[in-house]
Amino acid sequence: MSTTQPRTLSYDVFVNDPPPQDGTLPNGEPKRFSPMASTLICSSEDAVLTDPGMTIDQARVLGDWVASKARTLTDIFVTHAHGDHWFAAGLLAERFGARVVASAGTIAQMERNAAARPLLWDKVYAGIPPSPVTAVTVPDNHFTLEGHELVIVEVGTTDSEDTTVLHVPDLELVVAGDVIYNGVHMYLAQPAFEGGFGPWRAAIDTVESLEPRHIVAGHQNKELDDDAERTIAETRQYLDDAQALLQTEKTAVDFFNAKVERYPNHRGRYVLWAGAQTLYGVPAHPDEDPRKISVASWL
Ligand SMILES: [Zn+2]
Repeated sequence: MSTTQPRTLSYDVFVNDPPPQDGTLPNGEPKRFSPMASTLICSSEDAVLTDPGMTIDQARVLGDWVASKARTLTDIFVTHAHGDHWFAAGLLAERFGARVVASAGTIAQMERNAAARPLLWDKVYAGIPPSPVTAVTVPDNHFTLEGHELVIVEVGTTDSEDTTVLHVPDLELVVAGDVIYNGVHMYLAQPAFEGGFGPWRAAIDTVESLEPRHIVAGHQNKELDDDAERTIAETRQYLDDAQALLQTEKTAVDFFNAKVERYPNHRGRYVLWAGAQTLYGVPAHPDEDPRKISVASWL
């Protein structure tokens, strides 16, 4: 998938395959994470990369793709703190001599995710490189690519806390991280802590208010386009369906099965299953630490 504007800026998207893992889902199929999308925003000489993935293998194929674009990589931007979006940032920063950039809120959450690695990520996936938090903030959440403005927009809580999107006005582009999804099951655990989908819906409204034509979802089916109107509408619809199914489905397995039936072509059913277990597990166990329930849902 690629889009080129009739100006000096363009963007291109690389979708990494999910890393291998063990285990099966309630329907018997192998556990499989979502495809992970990285965006390369290019000017004539330089480029900025977003959400550089998680494992050493992913960093290698993504890095080779970036190298093929023959630009100087100045910055690597991280939309939010979930490890699948940045654990490989250090490797790519080193390979290209680039700076890692995120909002202050995201950087604080990155420290928490790095600390959670032994409890969660390293139990599920082999080959995650060392992930010290080296990200820095930029003044007023603005930076530039050969004079073109790149704006970090803080949108609050979506599938995790302190999430952001990157707005590129000259491309009418929003790189949306996990605020907007595209043909992939959404990770629905966070609303169990928030008491609903309200904060996420507000974040979608914020993205819409930027009036993008193109949205790159952090998790996407690479056969689909980046149409902003469609991806916003489908992300809202997915939340609407989740809210309705929470009323009609009695268990996490029922919820999982209902979502699979309604979205047979969506990728990332492992993420659906993890979210469903937390959505049902937190209210069912009010005396337990909800964070422990969400971690256990991945294992
Ligand atoms: Zn993600």
